[in-house]
Amino acid sequence: MNEYDSNRIYDLVKLIGFSKTNIKNQADCYLLNTCHIREKAAEKVYHEIGRVKKDFKKLKKPLVIVSGCVAQAESDEMIKREPYIDIVIGPQSYHKIGDLILNYQRKREKINELEFDVIEKFDSLEKIPNSQNKISSYLTIQEGCDKFCNFCVVPYTRGPEYSRPFKQIINEANNLVNNGAREIILLGQNVNAYNFLENKKNYRLSSIIKELENITDLKRIRYMTSHPKDMTDDLIDCYRDCEKLMPFLHLPIQTGSDRILKLMNRKHDKSYYMNVINKIKKINENIKFSSDFIVGYPGEIEKDFNDTVKLIQDVIFINSYSFIYSSRPGTPAAKNKLNSLKISQERLVKLQKILIHNQIENNKKYLEKYCEVLVENKLKNSSKYFGRTKFMTPVKFESEDCSPGELVNVKITNFNHNGLFGFHSINKTKAA
Ligand code: SAH
Ligand code: SF4
Repeated sequence: MNEYDSNRIYDLVKLIGFSKTNIKNQADCYLLNTCHIREKAAEKVYHEIGRVKKDFKKLKKPLVIVSGCVAQAESDEMIKREPYIDIVIGPQSYHKIGDLILNYQRKREKINELEFDVIEKFDSLEKIPNSQNKISSYLTIQEGCDKFCNFCVVPYTRGPEYSRPFKQIINEANNLVNNGAREIILLGQNVNAYNFLENKKNYRLSSIIKELENITDLKRIRYMTSHPKDMTDDLIDCYRDCEKLMPFLHLPIQTGSDRILKLMNRKHDKSYYMNVINKIKKINENIKFSSDFIVGYPGEIEKDFNDTVKLIQDVIFINSYSFIYSSRPGTPAAKNKLNSLKISQERLVKLQKILIHNQIENNKKYLEKYCEVLVENKLKNSSKYFGRTKFMTPVKFESEDCSPGELVNVKITNFNHNGLFGFHSINKTKAA
């Protein structure tokens, strides 16, 4: 979502005369769009500002802006801790960035803008075309969260759940496809909680997917990140009815232990999660899954961790994100005693070994087979191209002739845990 926000911030600052530069030391403005989900992310911000300060030591100080969730969470503390920062702006008020910069340039007073103006934000953004022109483009449809898992900062930094108006989303999708997008990834912290009411009609994520199916030049639709509780039947049915919806679902569970799920306030247990997975598999047996895992949640014991390992072996995720629990100030879990870091690290290594093993076993299956790949770009300084399979797996390949935006059949000749390698020739062979 930060990538989507960064692109939109750029669309906004272009209006007051800014453009991007790759020559860092010549920049007049330095903007860091930040994430607060884990502690390391926040520390990275201060580290990065320190680096900018050093780079500009003998030069004119650039305007320094911190946006995003670290800005929201740390507020004016940021400016106190690092006076090199001039403007702090939260994720729900970045539509005001142009005025804030102009005000700062006039008055030279530090600015801290953290209002939750999410409706106003999207209404303002609607008036400025999204200039993103990537083959695979992000589109935020929902923000915030009302679920309050005990470990998570999202409800505090992004605010309550908000669903953008249906028509606003469809217009933006058409605009992205006109810019060249062939895949749209619908985004939200709880994307499947999307719920918009207009003229007594209730629009859900499934309504958006069905509407996007009608955009002729759009080839693929994805969405993330979903919560198991919001995998409603209308959405599950899309895996049967919507050809452009890719058969790959990122569905975080966090842990395979019911005891820890309860302590986390996840509002679902393992059997609920497995039920959802099985329902989807029943509708479309080709669908593959990925997930998020938190290791070392306060109170996690060996048995809980083994339950997670068991779940991973039951579902066989083809790709996953796993992290050690990071205590976030202001969340309920922050009051708990931390687990031994050493044990958590050992568990993480063990978990990732299994996840990577499963990933390798999955990638191995494609060897000598053909895969349908959406070509995203030509690799820099190389004759190879980059694209992704239906299951989001990255593929690097040689081609006799292809161009970004095309769907091609790539013969897979090699693999590693991250992805596949192969070549594309112009004969027509059925792809996986
Ligand atoms: N709404 C989604 C997840 C959004 S946050 C869901 O509920 O599934 C993205 C991921 O960050 C989470 O799935 C979780 O694995 C991770 N995460 C969030 N808070 C964390 C914390 N305090 N420590 C470690 N990982 C965390
Ligand atoms: Fe965070 Fe997701 Fe839980 Fe919301 S549902 S609090 S975004 S982990």
